[in-house]
Amino acid sequence: MSEDICQNLKDVQHRIEQACQKAGRDSNEITLIAVSKMKPLEDIEEAYGCGQIHFGENRAKELQDKMDACEHDDIQWHMVGNLQTNKIKYMVERVNWIDSVPKKKTIREIEKRASRIDRVINTLIQVNISGEDQKSGCEPEDLEKILKYAQGKNHVRVRGLMGMATFVDPDKVEEVRPEFRLLREIRDSHREWECENIQLDELSMGMTNDMEIAIEEGSTMVRVGRAIFGERNYGDD
Ligand SMILES: *Cc1c(COP(=O)(O)O)cnc(C)c1O
Repeated sequence: MSEDICQNLKDVQHRIEQACQKAGRDSNEITLIAVSKMKPLEDIEEAYGCGQIHFGENRAKELQDKMDACEHDDIQWHMVGNLQTNKIKYMVERVNWIDSVPKKKTIREIEKRASRIDRVINTLIQVNISGEDQKSGCEPEDLEKILKYAQGKNHVRVRGLMGMATFVDPDKVEEVRPEFRLLREIRDSHREWECENIQLDELSMGMTNDMEIAIEEGSTMVRVGRAIFGERNYGDD
């Protein structure tokens, strides 16, 4: 079945606007990241053709292949998935955002690799808000030492935090509201660590099923896959 990607994008934009209206927010505060994992380059091209600029991938190799094959310089590429430190060297040349930084070692490696080519990479620190072991991200109590470590790095810019809520059935999404709220509270309580290369303005939270709730709780970046590109065929992440 072929998806009408442009129409889907409009529908998602509409959902974002409705959620903003309900929350008394301006929809210009929300960046839509189109998560194109497991979808072909043609789908990215189609979304780009109707104005989509931010794209996210969750696997290093797939991100790399798509960044190499895609010719639009103005696309902003986001790495949103679990990231092995040894994959960073392949992506620093082109990636614009690494949204899933879980530890100091990741920052050290981004700084090392990005400094060699004189690029500055935008990053989000991923915080474990679901309390599930298998979800990645730092524990909330470790965030302070990661931010301290990032201070003064010349090629790593921390822009905010990222969180993944517990996966629940679509009719139970209200249950994840406290997790989104927690991420915002963690952000608010770490503002004192802001400095020249650290700003905690961005909160990346909310996906196809729960973006409205995330927006009500202060999200500034929603990462949406299925509502734009359709269901993925094998092994949802
Ligand atoms: C797949 C994925 C998404 C998008 O999920 P959908 O349910 O398709 O909207 C968002 N964030 C991350 C990290 C993902 O891996």
